[in-house]
Amino acid sequence: MVKRERWRQDFSGWFSDMLQEADIMDTRYPVKGLYVWRPYGMKLRNLVFSILRQLHESSGHHEVLFPLLIPETLFQKEAEHIRGFGGQVYWVTHGGNQKLNIRLALRPTSETSMYPMFALWIRTHADLPIKVYQVVNVFRYETKMTKPMIRLREVTTFKEAHTAHATKDEAESQVKEAIKIYQKFYDELGVPYIVSKRPPWDTFAGAVYSIAFDTITPDGKALQIGTIHNLGQNFAKVYGLRYEGVDGKHHLVYQTCYGISERAVAAAIMAHGDDDGLCLPPQVAPVQVVIIPIPFKERETPVEKVAGEVKEELTAAGIRAHLDNRDLRPGNKFYYWERRGVPLRIEIGPKDVEREQITAVRRDTGEKLTIARKSLKTQLVQVLEQITNHLRERAKKSFQGFVNSTTDLKSAKELLKKRGGIVRIPWCGQESCGKQIAEKTEGEMLGEEIDSAPTQTAKCPICSRQATVNALLAKTY
Ligand code: ZN
Repeated sequence: MVKRERWRQDFSGWFSDMLQEADIMDTRYPVKGLYVWRPYGMKLRNLVFSILRQLHESSGHHEVLFPLLIPETLFQKEAEHIRGFGGQVYWVTHGGNQKLNIRLALRPTSETSMYPMFALWIRTHADLPIKVYQVVNVFRYETKMTKPMIRLREVTTFKEAHTAHATKDEAESQVKEAIKIYQKFYDELGVPYIVSKRPPWDTFAGAVYSIAFDTITPDGKALQIGTIHNLGQNFAKVYGLRYEGVDGKHHLVYQTCYGISERAVAAAIMAHGDDDGLCLPPQVAPVQVVIIPIPFKERETPVEKVAGEVKEELTAAGIRAHLDNRDLRPGNKFYYWERRGVPLRIEIGPKDVEREQITAVRRDTGEKLTIARKSLKTQLVQVLEQITNHLRERAKKSFQGFVNSTTDLKSAKELLKKRGGIVRIPWCGQESCGKQIAEKTEGEMLGEEIDSAPTQTAKCPICSRQATVNALLAKTY
């Protein structure tokens, strides 16, 4: 019943069409890499990010809002950081007709605007830790092919968290907390992921090490959907982030930062869709239940009235219900809401009214259910939960089908070529071997998998020394 052929085989086309047809984004804005969020998409985006906000707030992060513009003098201070972003920065060079003395960067990320302010805020150990976040737009002059929500010149929705700590251990714990937050977030969205420590040559500019979350697109490519960086004291040195300790001496702080962009919305769309359109997890669906009255002209029944009552009842129960009473044929309405991924459709016809029941149709399975009016609320809550679980399981299964393990380079290369996805292979952890593994398999090294270890007898396929980690290889988006 559920068809996922186009979703799998022409994922890129499917995704672009769905953004347009489901009223998520308009991709016709006349600047490359910039797109317009439409009302339904905006609602979806806000629901997705409200989960992330909640997770940050409940773990002691505070929301802030820093300026979009960063003076070149501040931006240039961290030499390695600037090397990492240098070629991708948009510069404001004029104010009106006047050339600016100091150019202003449109933030590509906010370390260089935040940390000089942190330096003013931090005096003693009592001022630590600092844990803040903001949800803002960032700009990068992307030279590769741009793609809505995935590769952008204006990332419209970037949740960036920044922390400062007194000790190295605390920063290390913060990285672990960030991993937990991101795990919870993607678990709630039912988006499967794999977590790895990026290899040294792919570490965030200015970081000691970087952790990344990757998911897999329906056509088998890895897509990075979140990063966490341990910055050590690199930025603290440059921007003078010092605190007076209990010992009366001044010490540099340790820092972390971590970010998730609107790729999270893309990930939720791609993980659960099918050939008929989106299939949204109830928790983030702008409309969780759509009610469609099916009147018969020949018979006088209070279908519309009952539909209105059902809507009131569900809204009062905290369910996002919408009554579609437009003058359209029911079939057209079905199609319309299917495309938009509404988890549950309720149909109310004359027979349903007579029997004091409703007919519900699940978007994820197409299954039809008859539910008595008197137990409607409790039953719908249960069905929505079943949908959530089913979507999560289905996405997980599809993801697992894409993750393969091997011990030799030849089969790794073949797996990547034929099936895509992610290939797990033992690695000694040395940079030169890692680079060769990637080269010889024609894949990209995502990094070493977190929470997994090679068997005791596993050998690095390059140097034959004992493997210490599992490397993850993939073709990336
Ligand atoms: Zn090796």
